[in-house]
Amino acid sequence: MKQPSFKFQSPTGMKDILPEEQVYFDAIEEVARKYASFYSFLRIDTPILEDYQLFAKGTGEATDIVEKQMYVLKTKGDEILALRPEFTPSLARSYFENGMIAWPHPVKLYTMGPVFRYEKPQAGRYRQFHQLNFETFGSKRPITDIEVIWLFYNILKDLKIKDLAVQINSIGDSQCRPYYKKVLVRYLKSQERNLCPTCKKRLKTNPLRVLDCKEEKCQKVISEAPQILDHLCDECKDHFKRVLEYLDDLEIPYILNPYLVRGLDYYTKTVFEIVSQSGPDGRQNALVGGGRYDDLLKLIGKKDIPACGGAMGVERVIALMKESGFKIQQATPQIFIAQLGDKAKTQTLKLMEDLRKMNILTESQLSKDSLTNQLKIANKLNVKFAVIIGEEEVLSKSVIIRDMSNGTQISASFDKAAEKIKQKIKGQKKS
Ligand code: ATP
Ligand code: MG
Repeated sequence: MKQPSFKFQSPTGMKDILPEEQVYFDAIEEVARKYASFYSFLRIDTPILEDYQLFAKGTGEATDIVEKQMYVLKTKGDEILALRPEFTPSLARSYFENGMIAWPHPVKLYTMGPVFRYEKPQAGRYRQFHQLNFETFGSKRPITDIEVIWLFYNILKDLKIKDLAVQINSIGDSQCRPYYKKVLVRYLKSQERNLCPTCKKRLKTNPLRVLDCKEEKCQKVISEAPQILDHLCDECKDHFKRVLEYLDDLEIPYILNPYLVRGLDYYTKTVFEIVSQSGPDGRQNALVGGGRYDDLLKLIGKKDIPACGGAMGVERVIALMKESGFKIQQATPQIFIAQLGDKAKTQTLKLMEDLRKMNILTESQLSKDSLTNQLKIANKLNVKFAVIIGEEEVLSKSVIIRDMSNGTQISASFDKAAEKIKQKIKGQKKS
């Protein structure tokens, strides 16, 4: 076949979500909605574009996300906007903008949608991907950290993701972290020649990030670095101890990872990732990332509101759902309507509406004309009954209802057709 003279492709790292993929998104959204309503998280959606400064200030200028991965654009009105690379600053902005500060606290929100990061595409890493977020505003209690982890952990279990573990650490707060940073920087400076070029830069801009560098060169330096857990202030130490006790109580498997710092500026105290340990090594296995961010809301709204939340990578979860053979429950039609002639086609649409209102899943193929072909389709779909509306039925304002299991047919008036079909389905269920 001759190729068309133009050739467009979706942008690098951004893909179409085809129908066969949508069912996984639906399944995840359904589970998320179920958990959210049970644990009283309210749905929110925010614009995909935000003021560039929201992320520069909120996520942090020296983070990879802002520095390297953000899509920034200038509008015709000379505004500088960014495609959201994550949800948390957007939700914090919305909290203030919409007066949620006056709502009963903690305010518990969830959202799901696309986020954008300009990074090197590979399996499990895209430039447009989806996140599911749960965020809480207004509680400093360790149990709130656990509620967030508990929710994600159980959602993943519901989605049949195996071998889950929580990687967890505390990175202190504005009291103890500056001191630890000094200790760390002193140590890293003494090792500077053994660091990769990126970490040499990080040493000046974001020294904590050196701790989760994956470069082999840096591994030895990191393994001997002073650990933040040895430098936490009493409040942070106590908070972290409670978090770990709760994890023990709830029998959530966790790994204390002193090198987990997460890439963002705003975290305080608890940081965590949920990983699946099944599958081959070396792939992107972090499914959820999150933690406490007690200082972010002050930065955005000048009010001291503690907060905690997490984000799940939807595409990574879908990849594992497919691997584990997650069964997608798809409803199968009970009725197929076969039709012949223009008038029969509109009668079909009318009958479909009657059946839809009765919750009877019905299918038809209006663009087809041959009754034989349509009945073949009905057979393939394995429907219980086929309804036939031919020219004669149009004239006599009736339909034929055929029992597909034995080929017996009855005639019913068009007005009573839906009711009759309902009775037949019921009768069949009884026998
Ligand atoms: P990573 O270390 O894998 O880059 P991250 O720390 O940048 O992850 P977060 O900002 O914590 O990721 O986002 C939460 C989750 O979103 C991740 O755990 C992951 O499942 C998913 N995620 C992050 N970046 C991508 C991406 N480029 N493509 C697909 N999913 C992603
Ligand atoms: Mg990343």
